[in-house]
Amino acid sequence: MRGRQHVVIAGGGPVGAVAALTLQQRGFAVTIIDRSKPTPGPQGLGMDIRNVALSPGSRELIESVAVWPQQAGVFKSMHVWEQWGVNALHFDATELGTDCLGWICEAAPLLHALWQQLETNPDVRVVLGDVESVESHASGVTLRVADEAVQADFVVAADGARSAVRNLLAVPTRVWPTGQSALTTVVETERGHQHTAWQRFLVDGPLALLPSKHEHYCSVVWSQSAESLATNLAVSDAEFCRRLCCASEDRLGGVAQVARRLSFPLQQQLARSAQPRPRILLIGDALRVVHPLAGLGVNLGLEDVRALLDCVDETNADLVPECFTKFARQRLLKSQIMLRILAGLKTLYGQPSPLISWLRNVGVGAVDQSDWLKRQIMFEALGARHGRVRKNEIQGRT
Ligand SMILES: Cc1cc2nc3c(=O)[nH]c(=O)nc-3n(C[C@H](O)[C@H](O)[C@H](O)COP(=O)(O)OP(=O)(O)OC[C@H]3O[C@@H](n4cnc5c(N)ncnc54)[C@H](O)[C@@H]3O)c2cc1C
Repeated sequence: MRGRQHVVIAGGGPVGAVAALTLQQRGFAVTIIDRSKPTPGPQGLGMDIRNVALSPGSRELIESVAVWPQQAGVFKSMHVWEQWGVNALHFDATELGTDCLGWICEAAPLLHALWQQLETNPDVRVVLGDVESVESHASGVTLRVADEAVQADFVVAADGARSAVRNLLAVPTRVWPTGQSALTTVVETERGHQHTAWQRFLVDGPLALLPSKHEHYCSVVWSQSAESLATNLAVSDAEFCRRLCCASEDRLGGVAQVARRLSFPLQQQLARSAQPRPRILLIGDALRVVHPLAGLGVNLGLEDVRALLDCVDETNADLVPECFTKFARQRLLKSQIMLRILAGLKTLYGQPSPLISWLRNVGVGAVDQSDWLKRQIMFEALGARHGRVRKNEIQGRT
């Protein structure tokens, strides 16, 4: 029989909040630590400028603990094309017999929905403050937050790319600079987005126009070099709209309005272990940070949570560190694979050479012609392989 063990989650971002609520559902005493409650975040055209793409697998997990945010915009297809090519990849939900591929969700309403549950759940304790020290012993872990020493049987660190837990433990972390930053904003376009996620690979970096709930509003994630970023941040709104229109080959017609432009430096990184101490696990961005070109950050973090829950569900007895050995090995391996794929894609599409461009086009054309291959790619992206979501369960969720 399992006793009531105490799990501390460091970090109340989307990944940490879902981890806390799902572990509480399984009977653990849970404390979640964050330096502050989520704030509304930068707004533009009535929307949060920070957006994340969520797969059906991620939605299923979120809905098991919180109310799904109504602001989320559904996407039913994806269209991927490139600067130098004639071939394009088109993925459509109907090819899978489903009616959507995922959602673009504003960060603020998602965090609000999760924190509402955290703060009203009598079995979750919320501690506000910075994690200042971590001591790991054979039988538990002690975290110091402001003046309090928080004791735990296990600590799950979900405190983001600059994880304090990871840094305090001096876990070696490999960083791969991408040489790019992401410019993010919200735009109003002349033509409707048709619930399609539009992604164009430019030699300078990928540009994504992601559909919101409003047919004519898209969030923009435009990865680019430092030189392009400096220009694209400095130009007037009118000039930026013209540049964006040109970069997206007018797919959505003219760009009528643009919100504030923000930028984030982009790097990929990976900690050496997902279990750096026997009773401490790293998940989400604390474990790995991926390039946003595939919109995978939160989805991979929620996959970590599902893998963690699988370990918990496998035993009725008290958890011991050995329960997480498989989790740590598998999540590290999955992270290495995803980092390599994303780095490879970025390099492949950053090559202006005519020969490589021709090879890319042949490859893209072949994939687009292969229904089987496209279905495999879509199942992976939907989180259907790793989650419990199956084709028939994805239907009817728009
Ligand atoms: C431009 C851009 C676009 C992106 N687009 C997408 C997308 O489309 N889809 C997608 O899935 N992902 C996307 N991502 C990635 C996504 O934002 C991250 O993967 C995601 O936020 C990671 O979630 P997390 O909960 O692991 O960490 P975070 O969201 O970073 O949360 C960490 C939490 O820990 C807290 N914290 C940090 N340090 C401490 C401390 N010392 N003490 C206490 N608390 C602390 C923070 O306050 C925060 O609440 C994008 C990222 C960028 C930069």
